[in-house]
Amino acid sequence: MKKSADGSEETRILEKTLKSLDVRREAPISVFILLFLLYLAAAFTVGVTAGSHKEIVINSIHVPVYVFAGVFSSLSNLCIIIMVIFCGKPGFITSSIVIMIQLPLIFAGVVIRGNYTSIPGIFIEFLTLAAVIVIYYNNAKLEKYQLRLREQATTDPLTGLPNAFAITELLDELIKHNKPFAVATIDVNDFKSINDTMGFDMGNKVLVAIASRFKEIADKGLSGTLDFIARLSGDEFSLIIRNYTSEKDNENTLKQYEAAITDKISIEGYDFFVNSSFGYAVFPSDADDRDSLISYSVAAMKEIKRIKSSDHILRFSSELKTENHFIVYNKVREALENDSVFFYLQPQYDISHKLRGFEVLARMKDSDGTFMRPDIFIPAAERMGVIDALDQQVYNKSSSFFGDLIKKTGTKIMLSINVSVRHMMKSNFIEEIREMLKNSQIPASQLEIEITESILIESAEKAANILNELKEMGIRIAIDDFGTGYSSLSYLNSFPSDTLKIDKSFIDKMNTSVSSQKYVEAIISLAHVMDFKVVAEGVETDDQLRTLRDISCDYIQGFIWGRPLPKEEAEKLVIEAAG
Ligand code: C2E
Ligand code: CA
Ligand code: CA
Repeated sequence: MKKSADGSEETRILEKTLKSLDVRREAPISVFILLFLLYLAAAFTVGVTAGSHKEIVINSIHVPVYVFAGVFSSLSNLCIIIMVIFCGKPGFITSSIVIMIQLPLIFAGVVIRGNYTSIPGIFIEFLTLAAVIVIYYNNAKLEKYQLRLREQATTDPLTGLPNAFAITELLDELIKHNKPFAVATIDVNDFKSINDTMGFDMGNKVLVAIASRFKEIADKGLSGTLDFIARLSGDEFSLIIRNYTSEKDNENTLKQYEAAITDKISIEGYDFFVNSSFGYAVFPSDADDRDSLISYSVAAMKEIKRIKSSDHILRFSSELKTENHFIVYNKVREALENDSVFFYLQPQYDISHKLRGFEVLARMKDSDGTFMRPDIFIPAAERMGVIDALDQQVYNKSSSFFGDLIKKTGTKIMLSINVSVRHMMKSNFIEEIREMLKNSQIPASQLEIEITESILIESAEKAANILNELKEMGIRIAIDDFGTGYSSLSYLNSFPSDTLKIDKSFIDKMNTSVSSQKYVEAIISLAHVMDFKVVAEGVETDDQLRTLRDISCDYIQGFIWGRPLPKEEAEKLVIEAAG
């Protein structure tokens, strides 16, 4: 953990965290002082009473005062023993010094002053010394064991980082102090595939390597903020960020951890290219209790993973809280009833930037006029069993627009539509498509149907029949999101497809790792051998574009050359391209 100006606080809180696990606690300094004073008083009284020749009368019996010396001597020894038991090392040192001073004094009293009544005192001193030593070493052994126990309870045995328990303890402590901090949940993407392909041992080594990179940043304070990193479980880590001055600082810190994990990890001659998803929530603005902070950071992490953005860091927002399935279901139902599902068109270009066509993307508006996200309402429509109705609205509207556009401009570009498996497997799907072509007058050769790879493989035989029929009609078939499912090109060979769309996640990784680039290159050359055309999806940067050009990708679809557009703007684009 970072030791900075605030390092003492850090250590203190951690210490406190560990202390809460103590079975045996050291007594506070006040007890030590009290015992010591009591000892001094008793020892002083021993001195006074031992040398006294006076007598006191109790019930008319004359009792010499010196007999009380033994009582006070026992009391002083008791103080010493209690001190060792309850005051740890300081108690032990003080007691030992006291005995070392007392012993020669008593001894001298016997030898020089002939004070023979003190002889038993010498034995008592020796016995006390033995007791002090035995107690101290016994306690030390117990403490060591306890320390190990404490460490085990707060440390993750694989990586040596603090564990989930330590994180919750620290969060509780920080919330009590009421100073702002951010808590992030970090999840390694696709970690399962490392375990599956390379075995658990190798998976563990990768985790250890990641942990040590994280630890280095936290320990050396490389991020500029005060960081506490822990491993929650499996491939999940948690990071607490403090001492930041702005929201930007948090982002920068998280980016640093992201970069650390993205750098190539080499183990036993194997290179791993790993990336991760980061979600975080801020105290007290996002939530002011420990459980909400953790669950919000997890929700944000899951969200950024789900939307497959090229950003891998997301702060929690209240929208994530309200994304209730039932609300979405109602909105979908309403939109279908009102026939208000519409479409945007995202241009696809060939590598020389010539317009190849458009992909039709479904759109729905919320009651406040903002767009709802397709990756939320499409899966909802699928679950509700109304995806065919939704597709139908999109197909009707987009095909009638595109048919008119062909009539107007004579354009030869392609229209790509998405189909969900549930929809495609319906008995009248082919009829629907035939009807659509007839009504819109779009030539079959200008229609492409996109279907995701995993769907094909799950329902292989029936899917192949349907695709064959579509193909016979002259329609092109595109395999969508290639790389996210089984990614078996040879398997795809058994499907009558023409286009392969490489998923954005591969395009994203391409310029950060040579192996990903090589992978995309291999897909493209194999696809070409098998007579597929290849579309790269989600191209955003010049670097990606350059690489894709170098490795002979056929088509580009991505924000770099065109975002999804309303139909009027798409029309303008076609007219410009024709002119
Ligand atoms: P998809 O088929 O993979 O569509 C591409 C998605 O990637 C679109 O998201 C598009 O806006 C986004 N995209 C394209 N280029 C970039 C880029 O450079 N950067 C980033 N960050 N994103 C880019 P969208 O419109 O949100 O659609 C999400 C998914 O919803 C689609 O993924 C598709 O699977 C499904 N979908 C969309 N429209 C329909 C439809 O009419 N019917 C069915 N069944 N599914 C649809
Ligand atoms: Ca698509
Ligand atoms: Ca896609």
